[in-house]
Amino acid sequence: MLSNLATRDVETLIHPYTNLSTFRETGPLVLERGHGVWVYDSDGRPYLEGMAGLWCTALGYSNEELVEAASEQMSRLPFTHLFSGRSHDPAIELAETLKELMPIPTSKIFFTSSGSEANDTQVKLTWYLNNALGRPAKKKIISRIKGYHGVTVASASMTGLPANHADWDLPLPGFLHVGCPHHYRFAEAGETEEAFSQRLADELEALILREGPDTVAAFVAEPVMGAGGAIAPPSGYFEKIQAVLDRYDVRFIADEVICGFGRLGTWFGSEALGMRPDSLSFAKAVTSGYMPLGGVSIDEPLYKALVSQSAKLGTFGHGTTYSGHPVACAVALKTIEIYKRDRIVEGVAEKAPHFQARLSALAEHPIVGEARGIGLIGGLEIVADKNSKRQYDPKAGVAARCVAFAQAEGLIVRFLAGDRIAVCPPLVISPDEIDTLFDRLICALDRTEAWIA
Ligand code: PLP
Repeated sequence: MLSNLATRDVETLIHPYTNLSTFRETGPLVLERGHGVWVYDSDGRPYLEGMAGLWCTALGYSNEELVEAASEQMSRLPFTHLFSGRSHDPAIELAETLKELMPIPTSKIFFTSSGSEANDTQVKLTWYLNNALGRPAKKKIISRIKGYHGVTVASASMTGLPANHADWDLPLPGFLHVGCPHHYRFAEAGETEEAFSQRLADELEALILREGPDTVAAFVAEPVMGAGGAIAPPSGYFEKIQAVLDRYDVRFIADEVICGFGRLGTWFGSEALGMRPDSLSFAKAVTSGYMPLGGVSIDEPLYKALVSQSAKLGTFGHGTTYSGHPVACAVALKTIEIYKRDRIVEGVAEKAPHFQARLSALAEHPIVGEARGIGLIGGLEIVADKNSKRQYDPKAGVAARCVAFAQAEGLIVRFLAGDRIAVCPPLVISPDEIDTLFDRLICALDRTEAWIA
C-alpha cells in the first residue's frame, strides 16, 4: 500500500532511469533529509548513502559551509550570465581555480550545467575545431561499449548502453563504439590484463584504419566506467590506447564526470590511470552535487581555433542560460576550498586500501563473480556459477533484488545492467562507516542467495 506522498508521486512524476511500468506497483523511496553519509526517508528511517546520491555528494549531506556559500551568493547576485561578454566574480575565480587544478595543459574553462551538456559540448567543439583547421571530414567520434556519457543526443550517442539507443533512434551516424575494457567478462581464457589491453588497442587501431584516420576526430573514455558497471580498466589499457590515438592524431577526451575531484585518490582519474587527454569533462563532485554545474577544459590550440572562428563567424555560437550560474560557481569554489583545506583527496588515498580490501573480500561470497575497484569506487557482479561466470536470466532481476535487500538493511547501492552492483560512497565516509557499508552489503548478498535458493 503506497503512502499519500508516494501515490501523488506515481500520479504526477516521470522518473529518469526507472521502469515506469513496475514503478506503478513499487512506488518511490522518498528521501527527506541527510546528514553526513546518511539520508533519511519520509518515515525517518536512515540509510547509508553508498552511492553518494548519483556518484556526486562527495562531502556528504549537511555541509553548512556549502549552504552558506549558496545563500550568500543568492542574496548578493542570484543570477547573471556569461553571454555577450557579461561576467561575474564566482565564474572568474572558479575558472582560475580549475585551470590550476587541471592535470593537463589548460588555457580556458567552459561551464555547463550537467555532465551530458559537457560531453555534448566536447563533440561540438571537436567538430568546430576540425572545421577551423580545414579538415571537415575528420568528424567521427569513438567511444566504448558500456561507456556512459549522458543522455543528450550527442552524449547518448557516445554512451554505449542499449537502454540509451533502443527505440531512441541513436546513436547518430558517425558515432562508433569499440570493446569494453572489462577483463573479468570479456578476456579470453588465460588472457592476461596486458594482453587484453593490447587486443583492445589493436581493435581501436583497426577501426580507425578501416574508417580512415582522416575521418576520425576523437575518442572519449571515462577513467573508470560508471553507469556501465563500475568497471576499473585492466593494467596497461590507457597507455596502449593513448599510443594509438597519438599515431592517428585523434583527440582524446576524458570524461571525468565521476572520477574528477578525488574519487580515485587523485584530483582527477586521468592522473591515477596515466591518461594524457587533450581535454576533460567534469561535473558532479565539482559542487559535491549541491548545485548543477559541469564544464570542459579548453587547451590552447582549441582556444586559438575558437578565437579565429569568432573572427570569421562573428560569435562563439554556443552556451546555455545557466552556463556558469553564479550560485553554482560559488558553491563549487567553496567545495574545492574544502577539498584542499580538509585534505579530502589525500583522505581518499588513505581510506582506499581499507575500502578495496573489504570490496575484494566480497569475491569470496558464493554468488559474487567479481569484486573490483579503485579509490572509493567499486563494482561487483552477481553470477549463477562462479567457475563458468554464467549469469542469471536478466529477467530474474537478481541484482535489483539484492539492491532492494540492501535498502531494507539501510544501505543505498545501485544495480546496473549485467547483474552488477556499484558502490561509490561520499568521499568523507569514515573507516567505521566503510565497515557498516560492507557489513550491510554482505547481509543483502546473503538474503539474495537465500532468495535464489
Ligand atoms: N558522464 C559520466 C561519466 C557520468 O557518470 C554521467 C552521469 O552519471 C554523465 C556523464 C552525465 O551527467 P549528467 O547526468 O549530469 O548529465
